[in-house]
Amino acid sequence: MSTEFKLVTSKRRKHIILRINRTGELEFCAPEGFSYTKAQDIIALNEKLITKLRIRHEERKKHLLAFHNEMQVYLYGKLVTVHYTYTAHAITENGIYVPGDDEETVRKGLAKVFKAEARKYLPARVEELAKQFGITYTKVKIGSSLRRWGCCNREGRILFSWRLMQIDKEVIDYIIIHELAHRLVFDHSGKFWKEVEKMKPDYEACERYLDEFPARKGAL
Ligand SMILES: [Zn+2]
Repeated sequence: MSTEFKLVTSKRRKHIILRINRTGELEFCAPEGFSYTKAQDIIALNEKLITKLRIRHEERKKHLLAFHNEMQVYLYGKLVTVHYTYTAHAITENGIYVPGDDEETVRKGLAKVFKAEARKYLPARVEELAKQFGITYTKVKIGSSLRRWGCCNREGRILFSWRLMQIDKEVIDYIIIHELAHRLVFDHSGKFWKEVEKMKPDYEACERYLDEFPARKGAL
């Protein structure tokens, strides 16, 4: 009986490797020109190793499913489930899909999903609110800060953390308005807060929401 496998050759590969790929197939990776018959022979001699690889693959899959089924994160203020997938980074009605083999990769994937969402949502919303309140700015950038939701420099460049996409849209508006208000007053004086209040009368509730947010279960 012969074991089914896929021979994958590459110019760059110097050694042979046996592995179970993401769809569960056995792959024989070898340098270019490696013969199929020779690969077959090697596979026949390594049955034990292949069984071990398959068991490890199954265990990893189980671990992944458990990890992903339990994981929930906030998107626009609502808890959504993170699903495991091999290929795509996506936000759907059923939750967020990210590739990954372990928690670290999943977290990186989530950062990518949130960053993409931030790029889609924030610049457009800043433009709308700036127009509404007659305030100018130069550029919107997206960063990854854990410490600050947003900031604005004297040149009018506004920087937001992708982590902002976790919070309620009303509160995102407040952060945008806060940064736009710095275009009028470049500090946190009483004058500044008066400008904020004119544009967002419930800003104090928003500040409280932001203070409490990082302590929530599921906050990234
Ligand atoms: Zn500020």
